[in-house]
Amino acid sequence: MQVRITKAEQPKAKPDENKLGFGTIFTDHMFNMDYSVENGWHHPRIEPYAPLVMDPSTMVLHYGQGVFEGLKAYRNAKGEVQLFRPRENFKRLNASNHKLCIPKIDEAFALDALKQLLTVETDWVPSVPGTSLYIRPTIIATDPFLGVRASFTYRFFIILSPVGAYYAEGFNPVKIMVTKEHVRAVRGGVGDTKTMGNYAASLLAGDKAHQAGYTQVLWLDGVEQKFIEEVGAMNIFFVIDDELTTPMLSGSILPGITRDSVIALGKSWGMKVTERKISIDEVIDAHASGRLKEIFGSGTAAVISPVGELKYADTLITVGDGKVGPLAHKFFQAIQDIQYGAIEGPAGWVEAV
Ligand SMILES: *Cc1c(COP(=O)(O)O)cnc(C)c1O
Repeated sequence: MQVRITKAEQPKAKPDENKLGFGTIFTDHMFNMDYSVENGWHHPRIEPYAPLVMDPSTMVLHYGQGVFEGLKAYRNAKGEVQLFRPRENFKRLNASNHKLCIPKIDEAFALDALKQLLTVETDWVPSVPGTSLYIRPTIIATDPFLGVRASFTYRFFIILSPVGAYYAEGFNPVKIMVTKEHVRAVRGGVGDTKTMGNYAASLLAGDKAHQAGYTQVLWLDGVEQKFIEEVGAMNIFFVIDDELTTPMLSGSILPGITRDSVIALGKSWGMKVTERKISIDEVIDAHASGRLKEIFGSGTAAVISPVGELKYADTLITVGDGKVGPLAHKFFQAIQDIQYGAIEGPAGWVEAV
């Protein structure tokens, strides 16, 4: 399939790279492709960024049959644009598609289409340290129909947004709050997919945490509310004694690509890394006995997010000395250096556009 390219007549003015926030500015072009039962995925095209016009009865608006991904394009020191493990994102998009009854995409074709879009938009990839071009592939159900079933038609689009350095104010630890009142996902559900409803379902708990002065929610499992799952929209790691440990993928946890990268790097450095069940009680006990060294989150947006304080019911713990731990710092530096091409990562992690 050939991607048809229609250029925008009037390119937008580029934003000040030193003042970029997150997710408010979009580039001149987007990728679009449609699905129908008769034609499969067809009509791939790059065209001017524009609103989607849709019927108010469009299925995704009512039943949330939609999935997305999040990754970034980075400018290296030579001025070239590169991607970090993008094949993993399209693989995960198809895993999400499967759970949401959305027809699979051709992963290699989607990556090639993304590269073509990035080639058209190459001037939009910022070069100030820590900045990047955020990439949001999305698939939505487009039948105009109010019955509950899987849609027969879909739209796959990719939009791009230049984003600022996540730690513009410095690499500082966050405060997190364990919730027992809300759960994010349950086994057998869709917690292991990037589907829209998961995020809508997390908002109320997030609001409550913010009101109490915390940055993120620490989610426990949906059955016993005992075992740790994730933090906000990040995976989570604990350093207890000399063990780096993270909750095992139970079916309700999002399999993060940053998570996988931390595990792989930790092992390559000779660390003891485990994926297992970790209860909140174990973490509190490890802190009480002085064995809890660090807690940090992992995800594409922040790479690594160190946790300085954790609140669970009436217990408030300060992790380490409340500052950024050495391992959080080491993983952050290593992954960021690989993403921006300052050092070479494991084979296949970085891909030129
Ligand atoms: C995207 C996401 C993550 C992190 O995944 P990465 O691939 O590392 O960006 C973790 N948890 C949730 C709920 C997410 O949506």
